[in-house]
Amino acid sequence: MEQKFIPLSVPNLKGNELDYVTQAVQSEWVSTGGPFVTKFEECVAAYVQAEGAVSCQSGTAGLHIALEVCGVKREDEVLVPSLTFIAAVNPVRYVGAHPVFMDCDDSLTISPDKLEVFCEQQCSFIDGKLLNNFSNREVKAIIVVHVFGNMTDMVKIVKVASKYNLKVIEDATEALGTHYTSGFYSGRYAGTIGDIGVYSFNGNKIITTGGGGMIVSNDKKLLRRSKHLTTQAKSDELYYTHDEVGYNYRMTNLQAALGIAQMEQLEQFIETKKRNFELYQELVYNIEGLHLIEYREGTRANYWFYALYVDETYPLNRDGLMKFLAENKVQTRPIWGLINNQRPYINDQAYRIERAVDYLEHIVNIPCSSNLNETDIKYVCELLSYPVNK
Ligand SMILES: *Cc1c(COP(=O)(O)O)cnc(C)c1O
Repeated sequence: MEQKFIPLSVPNLKGNELDYVTQAVQSEWVSTGGPFVTKFEECVAAYVQAEGAVSCQSGTAGLHIALEVCGVKREDEVLVPSLTFIAAVNPVRYVGAHPVFMDCDDSLTISPDKLEVFCEQQCSFIDGKLLNNFSNREVKAIIVVHVFGNMTDMVKIVKVASKYNLKVIEDATEALGTHYTSGFYSGRYAGTIGDIGVYSFNGNKIITTGGGGMIVSNDKKLLRRSKHLTTQAKSDELYYTHDEVGYNYRMTNLQAALGIAQMEQLEQFIETKKRNFELYQELVYNIEGLHLIEYREGTRANYWFYALYVDETYPLNRDGLMKFLAENKVQTRPIWGLINNQRPYINDQAYRIERAVDYLEHIVNIPCSSNLNETDIKYVCELLSYPVNK
C-alpha cells in the first residue's frame, strides 16, 4: 500500500461546524451582527475564566488593539521575543512604536531573566517610567508569546513588569487552553495573567474559525475600549458619531458559528494532542541525537505544536532531516527565522540574542494535527530512527 501524506497541522472539523454555520446562513445573519458572535465571546471568556472577551478578525488585529488600549504610542518601545512568528511584532509598528528584541529560555518563550537584566542595566527607571539609555525612548510594555502552546514564565514576567511599570500583553494565539496547575498562578489560563491577552483561530491553530481572533482581559475598561475600537469607535449607534479612529475588526457570525463548534471539541483536541506528544516522546527517546522540547512544569499545556531538537550527534542536520522526511511524505517545517534578522527589523535593537540562534538552527516542527493516529506517529518515528540505524 502506498504511504499517505502526513501534513504538519490541519484543521479538524468533524463536530457541529456544518450544522451551526448552516444555521447562521439560514438565519441570514452572516456579518458582524448575530447571536453566534456574542455567544462565542462568552464561551471563550468562560472557558479561560476571564472577565470578558472581544472578538476580532484575526489574532494580529487583536494584538493591534491590545497595544492601543494599553496606551502604547508613537515612539514608545515594546520588549518582544526574537524567536516567534512575525505577527507578534508587526502590530508594534502599526502603532508607530519600536520593538526591542529579547532572547528566549529553554521553553522557547521570552527569557524573563535576561529581560530583567536589560531593564536593570540598559535602562533608567525615573518617575515611574522606564527609559532605554540607548535610544532615550520610553519602554511601555512587554509582549510575551506562549510559543507552541508552552506557557511563558509568567510569575517572573509579571514581577519584572510591576517593578518597572510595564504593561504585559500576552500573545496567546498558540496557547488557548494552556494553564497553570500549580504555583502562584494555579488554575490561571495563558492570556489571562497579564493585562490583556489575544487568541487566534487561524486555520493552523488549535481551534479555527477559518480566520479570527479574540481579546481577553480581566480589566473591564480595557475590554470596553477594545470593543469600541474593533467596531469603528461608534459612540452613537443611530447618528454615526465617532469619537476616535476605530477599525473594522469585528468577527462575523459565520466565523463565530464555526468557533462555537470548535470550542465544544477543544478539550478533546488537547487530550489527543497530549497523548500523541507522549507517544512521540516515548519513541524519540530511543533515538540518539533527538529530543522533544518539553512543556513547562506546573502547567497543563495545550500541546499545539511539537518541537523536535536535532542535536549535532544526529547523522543529519535540520535541513537534511526535513528533506529526508519530505521525500517520505512527512511534512515538517523549521522554526521561524529570528524576527530581528527580518528586513523590516534589522535596524532595531536586539539584546544578547544567543539561545534563540541555537534553537533556530536545531528545531524542526513535526506533524501534530489532532487527526493524527498511532500508526502515523510510529511511521514518522521509524523514519526518524532510520538515519541512525542505517
Ligand atoms: C498565529 C499567530 C499570530 C497571528 O494570528 P492570526 O490570527 O493569524 O493573525 C500571532 N502571533 C503568533 C505567535 C502566532 O502564532
